[in-house]
Amino acid sequence: MSFKKSLFNPDDFTLTFELVPNRGGSGKGQNRILNLARQAAVDGRLKAVSITENAGGHPALSPEVLGLEIQDMGLPVISHFSCKDKNRNQMESLLFGWDRAGLRSLLVLSGDYPQQGYLGKPKPVFDLDSVQALDLISQMNRGSTKGNPKIENCKFQPTSFLKGVAVSPFKILPQELIMQYAKLHRKVAAGADYIITQLGFDARKFQEILLYLEMHDLKLPVLGNVFIPNLAVAKLMHRGDIPGCIITDELYEQILREAKSADKGKKARLIRAAKLLAILKGLGYAGAHIGGPGLTFADLELVMNEAVAREDAWRDLLPDMAYWPKDGCYLFQADPRSGLNLPTPLTAKKPVKSANLSYHLSHWVHQTFFEPQGTFYTAASKACLGLERAGHENCLRKFEYLIKLALFDCQNCGDCRLADLAYLCPQSGCAKFMLNGPCGGSRDGWCEVYPQRKRCFWVLVYNRLQAQGLAESLRTGFQPPRDWRLNESSSWLSFFKKQNNSV
Ligand code: SF4
Repeated sequence: MSFKKSLFNPDDFTLTFELVPNRGGSGKGQNRILNLARQAAVDGRLKAVSITENAGGHPALSPEVLGLEIQDMGLPVISHFSCKDKNRNQMESLLFGWDRAGLRSLLVLSGDYPQQGYLGKPKPVFDLDSVQALDLISQMNRGSTKGNPKIENCKFQPTSFLKGVAVSPFKILPQELIMQYAKLHRKVAAGADYIITQLGFDARKFQEILLYLEMHDLKLPVLGNVFIPNLAVAKLMHRGDIPGCIITDELYEQILREAKSADKGKKARLIRAAKLLAILKGLGYAGAHIGGPGLTFADLELVMNEAVAREDAWRDLLPDMAYWPKDGCYLFQADPRSGLNLPTPLTAKKPVKSANLSYHLSHWVHQTFFEPQGTFYTAASKACLGLERAGHENCLRKFEYLIKLALFDCQNCGDCRLADLAYLCPQSGCAKFMLNGPCGGSRDGWCEVYPQRKRCFWVLVYNRLQAQGLAESLRTGFQPPRDWRLNESSSWLSFFKKQNNSV
């Protein structure tokens, strides 16, 4: 049965496994992956394997290479497709290639921040965010892409991609969590077909996503992430060195205790995964996505067999899967009897009208100068268009830039989004230049790229909008990608020209 058929078949519990290629066109690591895939293809219980793309931000063999070999074995492949290393044109080009080659199941991600490469750290591309990438792929599936004003009908043979997305309920602060779900709404609107969760070890958190989807009538199959860390990775996750992945103090202590056994705790870690697998099935997940470093197919067989043996008693396993930091938030009230959540949201804090002077001042300026009913709208429009006519466009651009640099740390992109993002600049504020919501990497409200140094841009946006009672607006809308034609131009002039239909 194909991966897609299995995923949308309510009677099927779809199992997939994550493969992580490393550097090199061939070698031990790639051979190990192919061997595992060969065994999985013969076994038949895994409905697909996913192949990462430059996992952790490190360069590695690209997913389509092993993907095609594995598809030839008769095992479906999910190719990770991330935004970190390629611009929108390269994305389109690559996708045409994958469509032609028959690699049509994707997991669309923002991607990890690029790490050390040839002679240094590479440029983080992030030309599109994951919502915009989904929109691009949805347009490709319809056989035309919008965007180039000179090509009215940019039509081609429609592609047929299945588009998976990631979401993390494993966020410590409510602001981070609510923003994860807000972005999920945008992903669904942009064409997401299915979800794979972030990895975690807390049944209540896993159930939270299902309750949220039900409450908001979002009907997408969800695969729960069953991650089996080795000791080294558990240590990194516990220290917070792998963005978005949390291993609590209690779980880490447990893993260290287990490591004293002859097999260094391997069997115990596999059994924990089997328990989570059984719980996910019991909770009503469409399936599970298994992963972990250095696993063999025999390890996977053990996990799958032990999970089946525990399926009927999954509720008894819930106390063994309750690893969440004490200060970590939940979205729903606890049900002490079941150990899960009640379908009752925890009361959201009432918006507190904040005295954020920068927000209120910026909002006043926007309403007064850039809204057609604003007092100085006509005067501002005439001044900007007049300066252009008089050949002083450059002076206007510099004037605008200097003001915005002082107030917003402007990066002179010319495609200003201040008014859409609570008067915070995404070009200087977000390390990945995301325009439709956060990536999954923040921890405790800190940016994945600058932990303990810079707050996540989206936590700041949420705080400002929540204070105005506007937090729900983050679920809707679509911010198009930055238009690089406007780079180092006056966004005020572009705005008024558009208003006057002079572009
Ligand atoms: S969005 Fe662009 S124009 Fe607006 S403040 Fe940021 S860099 Fe400057």
